[in-house]
Amino acid sequence: MAKNSRSSDSLPLLREVLKDGERTLLEKGISSPAAEAEYLLSNVLGMKRHELFLSFEKEIERGKAELFSYLIGKRSEGVPSQYLLNSCEFMGYDFEVGPGVLVPRPETEILVCEVVEEWKKLTPAGKTDAIILDIGTGSGAIAISLALILAGVKVIATEISPAALLFAERNRAKHGLSSERVRFCPGDLFQPIDEYKGRVWAVVSNPPYVKAHELETLPVEVRDYEPRIALDGGPDGLSTIRRIIDGSAEFLIQDGMLALEIPEDSAEKVVSMTRGAGRFAEVKVVKDLSGRDRILMARHGSGP
Ligand code: GLN
Repeated sequence: MAKNSRSSDSLPLLREVLKDGERTLLEKGISSPAAEAEYLLSNVLGMKRHELFLSFEKEIERGKAELFSYLIGKRSEGVPSQYLLNSCEFMGYDFEVGPGVLVPRPETEILVCEVVEEWKKLTPAGKTDAIILDIGTGSGAIAISLALILAGVKVIATEISPAALLFAERNRAKHGLSSERVRFCPGDLFQPIDEYKGRVWAVVSNPPYVKAHELETLPVEVRDYEPRIALDGGPDGLSTIRRIIDGSAEFLIQDGMLALEIPEDSAEKVVSMTRGAGRFAEVKVVKDLSGRDRILMARHGSGP
């Protein structure tokens, strides 16, 4: 506990508790220690982050300070904050996450936004009964966000991991979506959904795309805590991406969209792979907020 002039049995002040947490995270090499400590403390206190700054000189109940210190200890070991709080914000919605499911990333929000932009280009007549396929849905963040944003679409989402599917189902229920609007299908990639061949307006996915030999170099919270199955993209990182590009064409309607999250150093390869499949036109890459190539978009049609 930080030193201060107050008596030893007085309650700790918010700013002291926060600084202690931040210092511990910094010492343990956790990146963005201030933001992480603020995130954890605001959740422990049930405050918005900016409210912390207005309450710096307030005392904190001992139990809450102890809980915060416990969370800081776990975060220092590498456990992702989102697992500690069982919660992750994505597209402004709250998703339940935990061990066994990938934490949704901010860059994946770009994928959702691109699909929404494509949707807006459709004529009103095209806006009913469209089907979106989300391959490897994980927590369901992409599938559920699209269903919440795009009234009228039906989302079919596949996932091979039973643990992830349990989170996805809970997230669907939490957001009040029926299984008519978002249907989760257990199985590998396109394997459980034959019946949707030729009926899909958009195939979307954030597939595993980390090169197998680079898995050990990932930050500790990813490397030691998040599911390998959601990260490991094989020797060149593109094993699953290749299968999705090849598999998606027979599911898409004419002019349907393919939207994939891709590794930033392989955009050219993925573009030529997509063109090489001979079934896509208007192949383009969209950058993430850090300016890195991140999302592949392509239109299903007569080819380049
Ligand atoms: N961008 C993710 C990461 O760093 C990788 C996610 C993925 O493979 N889909 O950890």
